[in-house]
Amino acid sequence: MSYENLAGRTAVVTGAASGIGEAVAELLAAQGARVALLARRGERLEAVAGKIRAGGGEALAVVADVTDEASVRAATARIRTTYGPVDLVVNAAGVMLPNPVEAGRIDEWQRMIDTNVTGVLRIIRAFTEDLVSAAAEGRTADLVNISSVGAHTPYPHYAVYGATKAALTYLSQSLRTEFGPRDVRVTNIEPGLTESELASHIDNAELAGQLDGMFEELGGLSAGEVADVVAYVASRPRRVNLRQVMVLPTRQA
Ligand code: NDP
Repeated sequence: MSYENLAGRTAVVTGAASGIGEAVAELLAAQGARVALLARRGERLEAVAGKIRAGGGEALAVVADVTDEASVRAATARIRTTYGPVDLVVNAAGVMLPNPVEAGRIDEWQRMIDTNVTGVLRIIRAFTEDLVSAAAEGRTADLVNISSVGAHTPYPHYAVYGATKAALTYLSQSLRTEFGPRDVRVTNIEPGLTESELASHIDNAELAGQLDGMFEELGGLSAGEVADVVAYVASRPRRVNLRQVMVLPTRQA
C-alpha cells in the first residue's frame, strides 16, 4: 500500500523500540518520512533504525525517557539539530500495569500516569511550536496520540490504565480547540488488542493469563495493522482530520 503526503515529512515517534511505535516508525520511513525514534532502550532503537536505513529510509535513534524532563529536552535538541523542525508527532510510548485497585499499587499508578499522560504532554509541549509553524507555512502538520479502547470500555483491574487513556482521549479532543484553528490536525487512535510487548510488564500472573486468553479467543491485531491506520490518517489532505479512530480485531466487541 502506498500513501500520499508522507514523503519528505519529518516525524517523531515515541515508543519506537517495539510494538505499535516501531511499526509506525518503519511504515512512515518506508513512505519517505525522516523518522526520529524515541524510547529508553538504545539498543532496540538502533536495531529499528538500522532496519529502516537498510531499506533505504532515514532514521535517527534518540534515547529518551518521556517521564524525565531533562531527557526529553535533550532529545528535542538532538532532533532539531539533526533534522530541523518536525511536522508529524506520534505519541505511542505507554505502559499498562493492571491490578485490583485495592492492591494499592501507587508505584504502578504513578508510572502509568507519568508515562501515558504527563509523558505525552511533555512531548506535545516539546514539539507544539514545530507543528504550528509547519502548518503556518502551509505544510501538513499532525499530532497523533495512541490512546485505547480502554478509554471507553471498563475491564476489571484496568481502572487506572483506562483512566490514563480516557485522559488522553479527552486531551486529544480538547487540544483540537487550540490546534485546529491553526491547521494542526489532532488525531486520537484507540486500538483494541494488539500484538506487542505491552503485556510483558504485567506482574499479576492471573491477569496476564486472562489477557493471553483474550488474545487466543479474539485474535490480536498486528502492530503493523495499527500503523496502517496512523499512516492513513496522516496521509489525508491537510483539511481532512479523522479526529478519532477506534480500531479493533473484528471479534472484539
Ligand atoms: P509496547 O510495550 O510494545 O510499546 C511501548 C513502547 O513505549 C516501548 O517501545 C517502550 O520502549 C516505550 N516506552 C515505555 N515507557 C517509556 C518511557 N518512559 N519513555 C520512553 N518510551 C517509553 O506496547 P504497544 O506497542 O502495544 O504500546 C504502544 C501504545 O499503544 C501504548 O500507549 C499502549 O497503551 C497503546 N495500546 C496498546 C494496545 C495493545 O493491545 N497492545 C491496545 C490499545 C492501546 P522502552 O521500554 O525502550 O522505553
